[in-house]
Amino acid sequence: MRCTDVAIVGGGLAGSLTAAMLGRAGIPTIVIDPHEHYPFDFRVEKIGNALQLARLAETGTAHAVLRSATHDGENWIARRGHLIDKTPSQQHGIAYHDLVNAIRIEAKKHPVETICGKVAGLATGSDRQAVTLSDGGTISARLIVLASGMSTRLAHQVGIGRDVLSKCHSISVGFDIIPVGRPAFEFPALTYYSETPNDRTPYITLFPIKQRMRANLFVYREANDPWLAQMRRDPVATLNGALPNLRKITGEFHVAGDVRVRPVDLSVSTGYRQAGIVLVGDAFATSCPAAGTGTDKVYTDVARLCGVYIPTWLKTEGMSADKIGAYYVDPAKLACDAWSMRKAFHFRRTTIDPGLYWRAQRLARLAAGSGKGIIRRTLRTMRGLEPQLLNSRWVRSEIAEPDPARPDPNIGDARPLFPLGPSANAAK
Ligand SMILES: Cc1cc2nc3c(=O)[nH]c(=O)nc-3n(C[C@H](O)[C@H](O)[C@H](O)COP(=O)(O)OP(=O)(O)OC[C@H]3O[C@@H](n4cnc5c(N)ncnc54)[C@H](O)[C@@H]3O)c2cc1C
Repeated sequence: MRCTDVAIVGGGLAGSLTAAMLGRAGIPTIVIDPHEHYPFDFRVEKIGNALQLARLAETGTAHAVLRSATHDGENWIARRGHLIDKTPSQQHGIAYHDLVNAIRIEAKKHPVETICGKVAGLATGSDRQAVTLSDGGTISARLIVLASGMSTRLAHQVGIGRDVLSKCHSISVGFDIIPVGRPAFEFPALTYYSETPNDRTPYITLFPIKQRMRANLFVYREANDPWLAQMRRDPVATLNGALPNLRKITGEFHVAGDVRVRPVDLSVSTGYRQAGIVLVGDAFATSCPAAGTGTDKVYTDVARLCGVYIPTWLKTEGMSADKIGAYYVDPAKLACDAWSMRKAFHFRRTTIDPGLYWRAQRLARLAAGSGKGIIRRTLRTMRGLEPQLLNSRWVRSEIAEPDPARPDPNIGDARPLFPLGPSANAAK
């Protein structure tokens, strides 16, 4: 039997980040995952905006991740075949396995023990916890961090349940896209929004990962919708059928390699306030990929857990449910979880809800998006012609780099209740 302070079950994004942060803090930690190197998995494929980058930075691993990522620098925004705007962008494309493996390398710089194996059983209590591996080995720890993603089997063993709030809330489709007859696309990155509610598509985002142009398309459909099989079989014709004006911006294109299709349920754990075990990332609650908030939740959970709570919990005897409960009511965690859930439902309703209110929302967004684009384009045209005007405070705020505390202009107007930043840490 091995003994440690913290046993992390699962070495995906949440588990690997937890290992990196605890290792850096010198806390004895063992992480268990079936894969020595995280394999290809169609999940998040970019750091989406400045706020997400700031949240990643809170974990102290941003430099390591950015070394393997591709910064696009500018994102074109388009809708109904019209280019609306070109905005400075903090998108950094990175395949999920490269993201996780970059963080694992960071974790290995510290004395963190890694076990390549599968956890078969958990037993928890208010003092020590037991983790049983599928090869029969056991680990005794003061605390278990459950970071096993969407799989619910282990959580159920210790009486933690799962509520599905929205079955097949959205479906993500990922593929490589290449221009026909030209060496490259004209845009560094592109977000192309829904043309009508009938396309059931909030948006498609195109962004570079190394030399490839990657496409992430999000749709609101049933998991057995024949449209998905058609998309796998003939992606170019199916995409052009759904978004007929996309080609006006992209030009003719091909799809290269596999088309990955992945439905996601919105679900949240129940009965998690227990002694000896704490949940992070998707193991606590999932998110909607179209809203792009899953990694915000992971970064927030891990930064708060490892930056504030675990070091405090280990200073005193025992690991009671009361101690652990403080993490679940952490204001930054609560705000991030609520924002993520709100954004998931808001996106879906703004895209497909037939109600009058949501139709009005769609029109308002269209008008606001076009209006903002016209203002920015006019200001850019004026740049150099009217230096005095350009120096005015109003104009500077219009052409400034996006503020991480403001909502992402690329994907809607949902904003966190308050930003996670040094002030949130200082408040604790
Ligand atoms: C298609 C898709 C697109 C997405 N796009 C975005 C996006 O654009 N933006 C965004 O912010 N978020 C996005 N997300 C969400 C984001 O990917 C997740 O929130 C995040 O990856 C969750 O990380 P995790 O570590 O909690 O889970 P995972 O990465 O799933 O890690 C779980 C780990 O636990 C291990 N494990 C499981 N069972 C056991 C066991 N018994 N023993 C040992 N180990 C075990 C697994 O092997 C795995 O390594 C997307 C998700 C999907 C599915």
